[in-house]
Amino acid sequence: MKYSAQKGTKDILPSEIHNWQRAEKIFAEVCHSFGYEEIRIPTFEQTDLFARGVGDTTDVVTKEMYTFEDKGGRSITLRPEGTAGVVRSFIENGMTSLPLPVRMFYNITAFRYEKMQKGRYREFHQFGLESFGAKGPDIDAEIISVVDVFFKKMGLKNIGLHINSIGCPNCRNEYNKLLKDYFRPHLAEMCEDCQARFEKNPLRMIDCKIDGGKDVVKNAPRLIDHLCDECKEHFEGLKARLEAIGIEYTIDPNIVRGLDYYTRTVFEFVSENVGTQGTICGGGRYDGLVGLMDGPETPGIGFAMGVERLLLEAEAQGVLEEKPSYVRIYIASMSENARIEALKLCNKLRLEGIGCETDMAGRSFKAQMKYAGKSGVPFLAVIGDDELANGEVKIKDMAEHTETPVKLDDFVEYCSQNIV
Ligand code: ATP
Ligand code: MG
Repeated sequence: MKYSAQKGTKDILPSEIHNWQRAEKIFAEVCHSFGYEEIRIPTFEQTDLFARGVGDTTDVVTKEMYTFEDKGGRSITLRPEGTAGVVRSFIENGMTSLPLPVRMFYNITAFRYEKMQKGRYREFHQFGLESFGAKGPDIDAEIISVVDVFFKKMGLKNIGLHINSIGCPNCRNEYNKLLKDYFRPHLAEMCEDCQARFEKNPLRMIDCKIDGGKDVVKNAPRLIDHLCDECKEHFEGLKARLEAIGIEYTIDPNIVRGLDYYTRTVFEFVSENVGTQGTICGGGRYDGLVGLMDGPETPGIGFAMGVERLLLEAEAQGVLEEKPSYVRIYIASMSENARIEALKLCNKLRLEGIGCETDMAGRSFKAQMKYAGKSGVPFLAVIGDDELANGEVKIKDMAEHTETPVKLDDFVEYCSQNIV
């Protein structure tokens, strides 16, 4: 039987992993520089956590969750995103009594039963962060700034920041009434999902994937024009801070975000390169979520970035890096005694943190040289009985085609100074 990876899943191969590791490292460093610390949450949670935390009118919950019953009869769901689990952990582990804001970042796999396309998978990766306990627009600007600094450190350009405010429950209630009056006469021409949203959560009709392009949706009243005074002030505060830090943005009244728990600030970073799946990062404020999950009322804000999309964008912008040569030197051997000496040298080199390789496959000397040439290793040393007798080997720089004689006793020191 021939096996293949499940639809929507992908192997990340040794030939490409260095770019993942680089992005992970840069993301962690940038988060640390803002005072965020890493949290690791479980891959699965009770289904109800997502139904409540993500919102049971969202596509994620109604259509995309990997839900199953475990052997104990519990309904379990593979996390479709990170926020709900982080909020659960924040409450469960008593972090609500820590000095605020509590800042955490994560690097997770997420699972959604979706139609496969470029930049859209069933198992994918997200970098994200959450910040709890800060109410004002400073923290909104801070987390946007994390993304901005991260993109800069990755060497990425032209990823547009789109911001919007979706208000608070107060202004949203008023607005929902307005929206229902507006959509009521058009309801018959809208999709089935929108007809359901009309009763439950009319705001979601604005980002419908089916009806979104229609004039009736485009011309709908905009929440941004109906914010209450506090929400308006918060949004103005955010804009002023972004301008002060020098982060460009456009206001996009159509961003409502897929998830129900957002309040006030919502934002997306969207690629301006054609051919990649648009939104690389999405986030926003969720002041009601901790309370909704039975924690003490605590404002919160966060974002999640799709790592596959990030790397597709990095590829499109030509900022992916060459694979580094972890193995710096290959030690070829011409005799049994030389094999032993090569092993000993390798052992010493590795203790010094220098990557090296010697023959493990029982290759002839000629085949070892061929292997070394093909492997792209930057340095080569050859040991035979003559070298053992003289106590000296030649280290060849494969790119420069130069050879340097080095005493066996000085081998490790020479390597640590010249080949790393
Ligand atoms: P989309 O509108 O593209 O479906 P979303 O609103 O469902 O995105 P979020 O839930 O906000 O996305 O997730 C944050 C980020 O995670 C997205 O901006 C995207 O980069 C990434 N992402 C979401 N779903 C997938 C997926 N199925 N495959 C790969 N990346 C994804
Ligand atoms: Mg989606």
